[in-house]
Amino acid sequence: MLTINEIFYSIQGESTRAGQPCVFVRLTACDLRCSWCDTPYAFDEGRKMSVDEVVAAVEQHGCPLVEITGGEPLLQEDVYALMSKLGADGKMVMLETGGHRSIARVPRHVLKIVDIKCPGSGEAEKNDWTNLDALAPHDEVKFVIKDRRDYEFACDVIERHNLAARTGAVLMSPVHGVLEPRILSEWMLADRLPARLQVQLHKYIWTPTTRGV
Ligand code: SF4
Repeated sequence: MLTINEIFYSIQGESTRAGQPCVFVRLTACDLRCSWCDTPYAFDEGRKMSVDEVVAAVEQHGCPLVEITGGEPLLQEDVYALMSKLGADGKMVMLETGGHRSIARVPRHVLKIVDIKCPGSGEAEKNDWTNLDALAPHDEVKFVIKDRRDYEFACDVIERHNLAARTGAVLMSPVHGVLEPRILSEWMLADRLPARLQVQLHKYIWTPTTRGV
């Protein structure tokens, strides 16, 4: 069984798939408390569903792209069966994870988007650095940037771990309403940073607090 916060069909707002229609499966619970978290409702709101029920709910939307997110999806054991079943059904499966739980057991076909928590999150000491060795070439790493200190932390990690060459994309996302995308863009351009700016597209299409989009 899984505890599911919400399943919805919307526009992918982040990652290299931004702009594409996508079904989102949001799993309940997280063991981090990032200072800028925008999904605290996923900490404990949810209902029990079997893996087959979740797959059936996804199928209703008739969409080939599925993102499993949270909360922290890797806290629930049955997420592995869910990823396998969706893959066997021919879905393109993406997994968004906070970066503090091992990704070693995630099936190879899944595109992993692995956060690396910066100091401004208040959770940087929880990063599981062994995850960087488990990344596949198609995976993506994401830094949520709150301020200049976070940016410099991210630049250092990108360079030391050669992330631009080893992954499908390095994503830099400004904290919405805290750091202007323009300022982060100017830092990236000045440094010729081998990374991709991303804004949370869904927050511009709808409003920053709209749920289920
Ligand atoms: S890992 Fe994600 S869900 Fe958990 S507190 Fe941080 S931003 Fe929120």
